[in-house]
Amino acid sequence: MVTVLQIFFATGLVVLIILFVFRTKRDEPLSLPENYKEVLNDYVKFYQRLDGPGKETFEKRVEEFLSAVQITGANAVVEDIDRLLIAAGAIIPVFAIADWQYINLHEILLYPGSFNADFDQAGSDRPIAGMVGTGAMQNVMIINKWQLRQGFINNHDAHNTAIHEFVHLIDKMDGTMDGVPEIILERKYVERWRNMMESTIQSMKNHGSDIDMYGATNHAEFFAVISEYFFERPDLLKVNHPGLYEMLERIYKTER
Ligand SMILES: [Zn+2]
Repeated sequence: MVTVLQIFFATGLVVLIILFVFRTKRDEPLSLPENYKEVLNDYVKFYQRLDGPGKETFEKRVEEFLSAVQITGANAVVEDIDRLLIAAGAIIPVFAIADWQYINLHEILLYPGSFNADFDQAGSDRPIAGMVGTGAMQNVMIINKWQLRQGFINNHDAHNTAIHEFVHLIDKMDGTMDGVPEIILERKYVERWRNMMESTIQSMKNHGSDIDMYGATNHAEFFAVISEYFFERPDLLKVNHPGLYEMLERIYKTER
């Protein structure tokens, strides 16, 4: 017969095992530098605007991201600020999607400045800014350190390289990088979103636009560029392109 004492000890043992596993996990190199809140507050406008609990959630997700993804310098020194800005760029687009995981990303290579991609160029992007790997470089993202920092230092343009590259990854998660992130966009809106991208690209080509013309390259680039605009200058996008704004709110679940 199982006594109360036996249950007591069994429970204690389970708790000890859990504590032990948790402790060994915590012994891995700590991901966040001491002044990380300060850095986020100084450079990440999205974080600045969050309330207390929102900031806490953001910090937690930054930490989770940094413990899951390897960031390696390729002729560049990876500084704490670079790691934090990359993580911020990863979290911003999916902040409203609580259980999001970048399952298609294992490593990020940080390059110092412009790089020449001699390997598979299929996913290459504004050559100096960054790219999402394909083929042998599957699950790898390349980011240019200078562009990464510019994206956060300059808050007034609608550009952010890290956000741009992570949006490509989100788009790619359903198997195709085609500007339609089917993993987060409800099926009933897919056709409307595709038509909206196509008509905006046509209008950009015919009349020019306040949207970066790089977005007129194809649907995938349009989605990445308009998402940068959405997260960097939401107020402006809402005024200038209410239809696109509304659709992006739907995609990123940011409607209130
Ligand atoms: Zn791109």
